Amino acid sequence: MSNKSIFDNIKLESIWLSNYNDSYETLNEDITCDVLIIGGGITGLTTLYNLKDSNLNVILVDASLIAHGLSGHTTGKINYLQELIYSDILKEKNYDTAKMYYESQIDAIKYLKNTIKKEKIACDFKKVESFVYTDKEDDIKDIVNEKDLLTSFGANIKEYHGKILYANNLYAIRALDTYVFHPVKYLLNLKKICLKFKRKIYENTKIFDIKKSGEYYNCYTDKHIIKAKKIVLANHYPYFLFPYFLPIKTNIEKSYIIAAKDKWNALTYITSKNPCQSVRYFQNYLIYLSNSTNISDNLDEQKNYEKVIDDIKKYGLKVNYAWKNDDLITLDKIPYIGYIKDGDNTILIGTGFNTWGMTNGTLAGIILSDLIVKGKSKYQTLCDPLRVSNIKNIDNKFVNLFDSAKGYLKSKINKDKDWYHNITFQNINGENIAIYKEGNIEYKVYNRCPHMGCSLIFNEVDKTWDCPCHASRFTIDGHCLKGPSNKDITYK
Ligand SMILES: Cc1cc2nc3c(=O)[nH]c(=O)nc-3n(C[C@H](O)[C@H](O)[C@H](O)COP(=O)(O)OP(=O)(O)OC[C@H]3O[C@@H](n4cnc5c(N)ncnc54)[C@H](O)[C@@H]3O)c2cc1C
Repeated sequence: MSNKSIFDNIKLESIWLSNYNDSYETLNEDITCDVLIIGGGITGLTTLYNLKDSNLNVILVDASLIAHGLSGHTTGKINYLQELIYSDILKEKNYDTAKMYYESQIDAIKYLKNTIKKEKIACDFKKVESFVYTDKEDDIKDIVNEKDLLTSFGANIKEYHGKILYANNLYAIRALDTYVFHPVKYLLNLKKICLKFKRKIYENTKIFDIKKSGEYYNCYTDKHIIKAKKIVLANHYPYFLFPYFLPIKTNIEKSYIIAAKDKWNALTYITSKNPCQSVRYFQNYLIYLSNSTNISDNLDEQKNYEKVIDDIKKYGLKVNYAWKNDDLITLDKIPYIGYIKDGDNTILIGTGFNTWGMTNGTLAGIILSDLIVKGKSKYQTLCDPLRVSNIKNIDNKFVNLFDSAKGYLKSKINKDKDWYHNITFQNINGENIAIYKEGNIEYKVYNRCPHMGCSLIFNEVDKTWDCPCHASRFTIDGHCLKGPSNKDITYK
């Protein structure tokens, strides 16, 4: 019998990280600083870059390597045409708020363009045309509304009736002033510039806990303490943030992405609604995203990957890379950027980018550095993390809680999944221990996410333990790859 698998010859990693090769420093002493930025994705690095000329002593730490979080697993579109986001904001808030969000995206795009030009950053930055489309008659009116709204803001958006590459489009709108880039090349260049300005960046340096002590925050790594007067939480989904309770304020969407060799096309497109299909090009690769679902749905990861790979086969292409990613979706589709405690300017956050973090992570870097240096920012009110949600959002809050509860329950029941191979469970001293067997080697882990106690689901493709509630991920031997969990699950 042949052991041939659909995954043979596919690299299970992000194309952006496939040739990653960069030197780095790890923290090896206790230090004190004015500002500690936790997280080296687009949010953290943009903030650090903006503070490079200030008199403040600013330090950035990352639990892993620069750009190895969401920012290294994105599709890397720089786009203000974001499905039906302006209509969604209009529904939840009002016209002026939707317009201001549009302006914030345009400003973030301008910032990216100017920075790339000024710093001569080689990151495959290209102007492309972009489409939002539907293949459903019933959805056309929503896209028309989005076009009218964008046009009223001053955007140059037109209807498009031609064929769009592989899309099965019935109706589409088009923007010509949108961009794509290589997100990791961009971020590594920002890192290089910050280092030139003598800013300190420590990688493989994880913050496990933060405690306030006098005028300082004591931030604990496994061996050292960083004392900081101000903290920027740029770590996507902070763990140590009670009572700022992100599970109520957000839900999580996961998606699957592949890269396949194809002829370059200067375009991007995306469906107006889920189920999402999204396309861009990088050199002679098609980057294709689909199968977006709530984190607690479709837990058989092998099936999820197979579905995306099958889509690409229909186009007659061969998949070279496959990976997955997830992002936080906020109640009103506007990010959370700014102070997280009323009357306290010492702790700031940038998160909740609704899968549009190339612009919104950049925006976060602009707002956070403005707040630190000037104490105010143009988009401070728009993105205020403490904003009170509309009454209309009450339903969403329950949906978020329901999603978390659904993930929790799904993880607890029926743990002997029919797609599991090589996995057994044992109850040891009242603890549910999962055992993964590879040849003669056994890897034992606690089958419980340290974040909020959900049981973990084994991802047969990536060989990771994934949390179906809030998207933490762990290696087969229990090392925490990605938060919100901040702890490992290794059973010793
Ligand atoms: C499938 C998918 C496709 C997407 N495509 C696009 C796109 O085309 N265009 C777009 O605009 N947006 C896109 N996005 C969204 C975008 O990728 C993200 O919103 C953005 O990258 C988030 O950046 P970040 O800096 O907040 O987080 P990250 O990039 O995740 O950075 C956070 C960093 O914090 C570190 N960290 C975590 N915990 C700790 C700790 N305790 N101590 C120290 N460090 C820590 C992590 O290691 C990580 O490096 C996409 C999202 C998804 C899910």
